[in-house]
Amino acid sequence: MERTYDAVVIGSGFGGSVAALRLAEAGHSVLILERGQNYSAGDFPRNIQKTKEILWQSAKSSEFNGLFDIKFYADMGVVSASGVGGGSLIYASVHVKPSAEVFDDPGWPDDINLTTLEPYFQKVDRELSLEVAPKDLDIPKRDYFHQASRSLNVDVIDPTQAIDWDNCRLCGECEVGCQYGSKLSLDKTYLQKAQKLGTEIRANAQVTFVEPNFHGYMVHFLDLKNKRIRRQVKAKIVVVSAGTLGTNELLLRCRDVYETLPNISNQLGVGFSANGDFLGSIRNSEFSLNPWIGQDVTSIAKIKHNDGYFTLAAPSYNQAISNVLALMGQPQGKMLRFIGPIVWKHFNGVLPWAMSKGLINNPIKSKLSSDPDNFTNLFSMGRDNANGVIKLNNQKLEIEWNYYQENRELIDAMIKTMKEYAKAYGGEFSPMMTWNMSERPLVFHPLGGCRMSPRAEEGVVSLSGEVHGYPGLYVSDASLIPSSIGYNPVMTITALAEHNAERMIDSI
Ligand SMILES: Cc1cc2nc3c(=O)[nH]c(=O)nc-3n(C[C@H](O)[C@H](O)[C@H](O)COP(=O)(O)OP(=O)(O)OC[C@H]3O[C@@H](n4cnc5c(N)ncnc54)[C@H](O)[C@@H]3O)c2cc1C
Ligand code: SF4
Repeated sequence: MERTYDAVVIGSGFGGSVAALRLAEAGHSVLILERGQNYSAGDFPRNIQKTKEILWQSAKSSEFNGLFDIKFYADMGVVSASGVGGGSLIYASVHVKPSAEVFDDPGWPDDINLTTLEPYFQKVDRELSLEVAPKDLDIPKRDYFHQASRSLNVDVIDPTQAIDWDNCRLCGECEVGCQYGSKLSLDKTYLQKAQKLGTEIRANAQVTFVEPNFHGYMVHFLDLKNKRIRRQVKAKIVVVSAGTLGTNELLLRCRDVYETLPNISNQLGVGFSANGDFLGSIRNSEFSLNPWIGQDVTSIAKIKHNDGYFTLAAPSYNQAISNVLALMGQPQGKMLRFIGPIVWKHFNGVLPWAMSKGLINNPIKSKLSSDPDNFTNLFSMGRDNANGVIKLNNQKLEIEWNYYQENRELIDAMIKTMKEYAKAYGGEFSPMMTWNMSERPLVFHPLGGCRMSPRAEEGVVSLSGEVHGYPGLYVSDASLIPSSIGYNPVMTITALAEHNAERMIDSI
């Protein structure tokens, strides 16, 4: 048995880092349990054939202790991170405030809106030293995206980003881990500050379940670097911040498998959103894009759609990744449609196999290939109907949602706009291969499942993020977001975590 802490925080991403820092500042002893490893500048894995370093698959084997958690469910694939710093290790560091109308969605508590969150946006801005990329940096892909947006009469902004611009090498590797220490990820900001106040971070510690005891809670975890030994730690307060899928899975298991938290609301898992994520690409643009010069994402366009909007960016990566993506193109056609649904079912096994055999980093040239200099990805986010349900089927996590059928109008509008951009670039458009296979999206911004509400019949947690029926047990991460946002969501997730941390500290 380990020592007892005032608070244990599960997961070291955005929600968890904010909670840990604010608890430590309030004088509490804090332990963060994080399933992934510590990474420093220069440590991030690059050889994709070394799948154990790249992929997180710890349910199968502790050897797969990598940075990327990529899972394929029945109706979509989801990408998230594993490591001390959570999603900040692999995010593009784009911070944008949401549009005011997001908060009109009935899922949001009445007193949370753009105005009430403003002080917390400012707090996040200060902690992460957010800044727009200097205009005088020479980033050709940024200029082309602006030019295309202007020609289509679309508003475009360059967002604030958590990057130390004086030291940024403009190398296009933000989403595979910054080797130069120039991205101001959580390990360099919130977590570092929390550690200075005495917070302990235990990496390679995967929490399996939480149970109440007379003291508060007992948190059970596996020591992944030590033969998966089971360990426990006690705390008065527990903050679950394992990211949307991690938090929903942990609480579902506590309620339905371990039965240690049997009274969690039946709203758990309801209201999952993919933030309207949709990926495409342009190949054979008529001009050289130099896609490898600059940070991964430079600009965001806001496209009017019905009474609302969706957004579009053109992420692109270093030369090695650009070569692979351009050479591969985005396979499409009847044959792919035919075998796609069968392959999809086995993707969780097929992906590591294909990576380890070198089938992904050495694709065969075809008529779909493009010169890498004339290739870019496109990425849209929009207001999907947040109608997904996260559940356990035979103890296995599943997401159920007929995404395309329920959000067809939105996706079709995104495809139409992407085609217009491809034309403005003088190139050709294709949706991502995974979409061409089976009309299922690959999601980078999973949200929801633990809605806030004063009543357990309508939400999983209270307005301060405390789980209904379990005093001292809190949730702080993207699972609290009750609707799609349609912009990059991390600014909203982090500001909400700051807002709720204040309420949590007032109440303990
Ligand atoms: C490639 C990529 C690029 C992105 N770029 C952007 C961007 O530029 N802007 C933006 O707004 N959003 C971006 N996102 C999304 C953003 O990263 C997420 O929305 C954000 O990280 C969610 O924060 P969170 O606090 O909910 O959880 P996370 O940041 O995902 O943190 C959860 C942590 O919990 C840990 N964990 C999970 N289960 C357990 C367990 N059982 N025990 C212990 N630890 C556990 C995980 O390892 C992880 O470290 C991007 C996502 C990806 C994949
Ligand atoms: S562009 Fe390169 S150096 Fe700059 S933040 Fe991204 S990964 Fe780091």
